[in-house]
Amino acid sequence: MTCFSKIKMLKLTKFLNILEKATLDIVLPKHCLHCHKEETFLCPECLDLIKINSFQVCPLCQKSLTEYGEICRYCRSFKPPIDGLITAANYDNPLVARLIRLFKYKFIDQLSDPLSKILIKAYQKNKLAIPDLIIPVPLHPLRLRWRGFNQAELLAQNLAQNLLPGFPIKVNSEILTRVKYTLAQANLKKSEDRQQNVQDAFQIDLKALDKIKNRRILLIDDICTTGSTLMECGKQLRKLKPKTIQGVVVARQG
Ligand SMILES: [Zn+2]
Ligand SMILES: [Zn+2]
Repeated sequence: MTCFSKIKMLKLTKFLNILEKATLDIVLPKHCLHCHKEETFLCPECLDLIKINSFQVCPLCQKSLTEYGEICRYCRSFKPPIDGLITAANYDNPLVARLIRLFKYKFIDQLSDPLSKILIKAYQKNKLAIPDLIIPVPLHPLRLRWRGFNQAELLAQNLAQNLLPGFPIKVNSEILTRVKYTLAQANLKKSEDRQQNVQDAFQIDLKALDKIKNRRILLIDDICTTGSTLMECGKQLRKLKPKTIQGVVVARQG
């Protein structure tokens, strides 16, 4: 597909989604997606019903159980670019899947609030170290224009403000950029295709050494599939010698 037809297709799907959202807003006022209580997208009681993962697996082999989502001993021999990844909740939970879908594809940006709360709960449950800097997985400028916001950045900003109340953590959305327009990872079935899709998709600002060197970096995204996107981001960030790179996502989509 040419770049021009890609833009046309993106514009059309966005128009249809906005139309659907506007219709929903008129017909159905804001209500809890689970119990239908008014004036909230997810009430605190229903948020508490979402089970936070109490164990994690190695993000590389997805087989070994690891206490805090760290890379297992076997996979460490491949020198992966990130140190660990935690997935907060389960994508098989229909409420979680619905929250993410409405957030990403129906442009309901206020859903970043309950989704960030899920991330914070998981962060605390896994007793991860407080990061020095949070970096959201970047969107390609074309996709950013289509969606109007980077869903990972909204999550990062929310997490940064609320992880340690009163002590906001820095967020940087400029150091790491997406330079290649890629297909959605969930649309690709084979692991190799997903890997190839995001290969060389990101670029790091090499002048930002002082912002990354010896810092604990938290890389954030809404969902991951094989983890290839986070690994590619990690590869770029490693060039600036961070102390650790920890990833966190709301859920892993198979
Ligand atoms: Zn509710
Ligand atoms: Zn492993």
